[in-house]
Amino acid sequence: MNLRLNGRVALVTGSGRGIGAAIARRLAAEGAAVAVVDLDRDDAVRTAADLPGSRGYGADVADLDQLRSVVDRVHEEFGRFDILVNNAGITRDRTLRKMEAAEWDEVIRINLTGVWNGCKAAQPHLLEAGPTGRIISLSSTSYLGNFGQVNYAASKAGVVGLTRTLALEMARAGVTVNAIAPGFIDTAMTRAMPAEVFNRVVASVPLGRPGQPEDVAAAAAFLASDDAAYVTGQVVFVCGGYSVGAGHP
Ligand code: NAD
Repeated sequence: MNLRLNGRVALVTGSGRGIGAAIARRLAAEGAAVAVVDLDRDDAVRTAADLPGSRGYGADVADLDQLRSVVDRVHEEFGRFDILVNNAGITRDRTLRKMEAAEWDEVIRINLTGVWNGCKAAQPHLLEAGPTGRIISLSSTSYLGNFGQVNYAASKAGVVGLTRTLALEMARAGVTVNAIAPGFIDTAMTRAMPAEVFNRVVASVPLGRPGQPEDVAAAAAFLASDDAAYVTGQVVFVCGGYSVGAGHP
């Protein structure tokens, strides 16, 4: 594996399992020391145990104080802080007619405010890092519109607006800020759907298969590396052509 991230320190939220764990593994394979952060601390510690030079931490991204204390601890323990991956996210899918206010609030708080919290907590360290500084946040093709996901789509559209704006604010320091919009990826999140819905969505993916967490991790590693030094304010679609087939960007 190409050691593009040798010497860099990365923090990945929601990386105890799923896409986040794959991103943590890929960044570590490319030479980064990774802080694996998850609401489920045991999962975080287990994932980090397999990655040389990495450590697991428990934190809720919806809580700015908790996240800030982990970010500052990572900066202190690892001696620097280069890459923030805002990956933690949830779904609470229902049509608006059936959705409760609490389901709206919870998704916005974790998926959107959680990203703001990560950026807010890490910004001083990323400005110090300068041209190795990176923010990568998980959006979703759902931000373009997806039945039964008004809360999730709004949160993921918010991530795009935040990313494009923060890219402008941090550009002078050389820090890049980008988002990844995965399509349909095979994780616990999508396996929670009834099998027939899962299979129907997969059948509509032009490349004919669900994405794997590793497909998303490869894009994250690119954005984290010097190869992407001139890429900022962008949304990278990793969706097997799903959004294109639906007539979207
Ligand atoms: P997942 O449910 O498999 O894993 C999510 C992880 O985030 C879990 O380890 C969970 O404990 C953690 N988490 C949840 N709430 C948290 C919180 N408040 N604080 C800290 N950690 C928390 O999900 P996934 O499929 O791996 O999704 C990862 C990201 O990718 C999410 O932002 C999701 O919206 C996005 N995404 C996923 C898909 C997909 O098809 N799976 C598609 C597009 C975007």
